[in-house]
Amino acid sequence: RPTVMWFRRDLRLRDNPALLEACAEGPVLPLFVLDPHLWGPAGPSRRAYLAASLRSLDASLRDLGAPGLQVVRGDPVRRVPAAARAVGAERVHVAADFGPYGRQRDEAVEAALGEAGVGLARTGSPYVVPPGTVHNGSGDHYRVFTPFHRVWEQQDRPAPQDAPDHGDWLALDEGTTDVPSPRLPAGLEVPVAGEEATHARWSDFLERGIDDYDTTRNEPGTDGTSRMSVHLKYGEVHPRQLLADLSRRRSAGAATFRKELGWREFYADVLWHQPRTAREYYKTQYASLAYDEPGELFEAWQEGRTGYPVVDAGMRQLRSVGWMHNRVRMITASFLVKDLHVEWQHGARHFLHWLADGDLASNNHGWQWVAGSGTDPSPFFRVFNPTGQGRKFDPDGAYVRRWVEELRDPDRVPDPHEPSSEVRAAVGYSEPVVDHAEERREALARWEHIR
Ligand code: FAD
Repeated sequence: RPTVMWFRRDLRLRDNPALLEACAEGPVLPLFVLDPHLWGPAGPSRRAYLAASLRSLDASLRDLGAPGLQVVRGDPVRRVPAAARAVGAERVHVAADFGPYGRQRDEAVEAALGEAGVGLARTGSPYVVPPGTVHNGSGDHYRVFTPFHRVWEQQDRPAPQDAPDHGDWLALDEGTTDVPSPRLPAGLEVPVAGEEATHARWSDFLERGIDDYDTTRNEPGTDGTSRMSVHLKYGEVHPRQLLADLSRRRSAGAATFRKELGWREFYADVLWHQPRTAREYYKTQYASLAYDEPGELFEAWQEGRTGYPVVDAGMRQLRSVGWMHNRVRMITASFLVKDLHVEWQHGARHFLHWLADGDLASNNHGWQWVAGSGTDPSPFFRVFNPTGQGRKFDPDGAYVRRWVEELRDPDRVPDPHEPSSEVRAAVGYSEPVVDHAEERREALARWEHIR
């Protein structure tokens, strides 16, 4: 029987259980729906990256003999049943989605398909252990990472599977493939997308970086992290594959990396149990902390003009390459919440707009961690000192000099983390927009009120 494989966050052929299920059933229509609800708010990096990833999947399908990925635009509640009807499918195959929007969309699509006698088969997920699976002794979900991680590590992990090696493929009658090609704004770069590029980057990291990852992961000036986040976001590789490759490694770096993948799964699990925490405070008492409305200072933060070099470097990196180093995500987020007293949701929205790897669970819970209101929060009173953090994690200033052009010349700017007023004036770099010590006191005073 003809069937439909509806790709969403699993833009790969290898180790794709839903695709294997579809291929076992009969001729397959490979479908992607460009959903305005997700495409609309996506910023330029995410759009460019997704489009490139779709083009890569389209090419891989053609290599297998398929007429190509069938990309249609519109509401999946109408477009998926229409595609199923067009090829006479009895079932639509997907990897389950666990985000708040994805769950509700899939229920609506399932109901619409059901009216036409078509089933929605969910096989696999973007996670090693699907959200909602890990429980404590009393059947409840974990609210802090360490015990979650202990149980998560012990869950069954099916071995990665190969890509389908054959298949009959279908196309929509009307359907020339309509993969979008958004224009990248000048100056914006995104990584090379697609399954092959992902595996190449991962192999390179395994060879070059994994064993020292526990130390290099905190150095924004070095290329010490895997850069897998965007590939995981779009499912160009499954984390199961990364864990399988790491299982042969015994280094501290490999152990730390496994743990980081655990954080990704923990946040997805928390969001699945408590979808409200995508927008609201996980620890509800933080909702009554006094914040300022975002104004000019918020704009200076967004544009990387705060006069704090490491903050500005991060915010400029974000807008240039759609990615920011994890340490700097923490520093810039802390600066917004604790130095500028702006609520985390404003910053989270800005990050989600610009990040190519923007992921609701990791981003919004990452923000809540910094804001002191999340699971395992960094205590609110521990306020990051942006200058001290810069000096500690970017000791030679390589990161700051790379992203803040005004501070690049070591002859004119000998200390890129704390340039003097004379140097700032000479190179055209702004004075700090606030005084960190003063704002730290202010943040703690506001916090005392809700303690
Ligand atoms: P690596 O250091 O190589 O880590 C490997 C993988 O582990 C990452 O690809 C990611 O999947 C996972 N990981 C690592 N750190 C974390 C973490 N703290 N939380 C959850 N997963 C983690 N990550 C996103 O994928 N999307 C986001 O939108 C996002 N927003 C964030 C916002 C804030 C304020 C903070 C503090 C963190 C955010 N993170 C987010 C987590 C982390 O910063 C990125 O996953 C990481 O920087 C991606 O680069 P990498 O792949 O080179 O990471």
